[in-house]
Amino acid sequence: MLGWLSLTILDLIRAKRLVPPRLQTWPVINQPRPPYSPRSSQLHLETVAVTAGRPEHVVDAPLNPPVVFASTYVGAHDTSTAKIGYGRYGNPTWQALEQAIGAMEGGRALTFASGMAAAHAVLELMPPSGVIVIPHNCYLGVAEAIDQRAARYGWHVRRVNVADTIEVVKAADGADVVWIESPTNPTIEVADLPTLGKNLSPSSLFVVDNTFATPLLQRPLESGADIVLHSATKLLSGHSDVVLGAIVTRADDTQTFDALDAIRRSFGASPGPMEAYLALRGLRTLPLRLAQAQASAQILAERLVAHEGVLRVRFPGLPTDPGHDLARRTMSGFGSLISIDLADAPSAETFVEGCSLWVFATSLGGVESMLERRRRWKSELQSVPEGLVRLSVGIEHVEDLWSDLAQALDRL
Ligand code: PLP
Repeated sequence: MLGWLSLTILDLIRAKRLVPPRLQTWPVINQPRPPYSPRSSQLHLETVAVTAGRPEHVVDAPLNPPVVFASTYVGAHDTSTAKIGYGRYGNPTWQALEQAIGAMEGGRALTFASGMAAAHAVLELMPPSGVIVIPHNCYLGVAEAIDQRAARYGWHVRRVNVADTIEVVKAADGADVVWIESPTNPTIEVADLPTLGKNLSPSSLFVVDNTFATPLLQRPLESGADIVLHSATKLLSGHSDVVLGAIVTRADDTQTFDALDAIRRSFGASPGPMEAYLALRGLRTLPLRLAQAQASAQILAERLVAHEGVLRVRFPGLPTDPGHDLARRTMSGFGSLISIDLADAPSAETFVEGCSLWVFATSLGGVESMLERRRRWKSELQSVPEGLVRLSVGIEHVEDLWSDLAQALDRL
């Protein structure tokens, strides 16, 4: 992935240290600027999910944005007058999705080929020999990517327990990037985003992976984050048929937005138009899907706690969960992800195999309930218990979900 173009970006990142932040410039070609709609931000998020990113209401306009399959667009001699130019720089279907995700998060969005492509774009902003703070427990792909880049670029990586705000603030001293995932995958720990936002230095780029909470439950930009990251593959799209990522910056932070846009262009980390269309269609029903899934998650978590075969249930909706008070204060719901600790790897494997309605699969956030033992992945962090099973609650009837879990647990 690293070619001469990325070297140019690294050179610019080095330059970041030499110039005051506000004087930085980034190479931007034919920058398309989808308008951020303040009108949308005054509506409830359930309404924004349905209305944002639609074509104008004019006679015979389609209600939904069309899927535009285009590798190129009719050109302009003066390239600064063209809004898109080339298929790697922009696409009307991505822009519709970006308007919708941006309006939901309250900022400006860029979509990427995957959540990992989005994560790598953000990591590309790190200077060589820089300092990055990351969670002890977070999505394994991100942890791996950071370790690899740290070895290559001489980064100093400070690992923190995201639930310990004092530890995070201390570790953030002098950091270039503070990368928080909350709730964490797969240990479901909750970070205090508003307190972090107030206490982190403006010179640290504050990045929040909001994949588990979605903009409906957690508002990172309003808490002071500079960048929100999504694996839109998960809840935003919601039907397990799309791989897609997104980054959202604050509406007034043109500098960070332009830098990430330039990185997307040079790496070609752009999404397919069909994926963007499907993700936007999925996003329309996010509020309904999430409401159903998290109501069921609450019921299931309470029943799982009471089952003798389960050693520990990790779900912030339980009053006994270490993240409960914080989640009540900083989130507007507890989400649809539960992790349970079973005795050991064989028990966890037997349990997963014993379920038939719950699909044994990686990934999460789809309408279908899914579960997996996370340590079956050799690269999963060693801090994740061998017997931990992550459950992604879907929208099936909760009693059917419970019957399936209960019969598999009873057989352990
Ligand atoms: N962030 C989180 C929290 C994730 O769970 C994942 C994937 O599981 C990613 C990022 C990476 O996203 P993707 O699989 O879309 O590349």
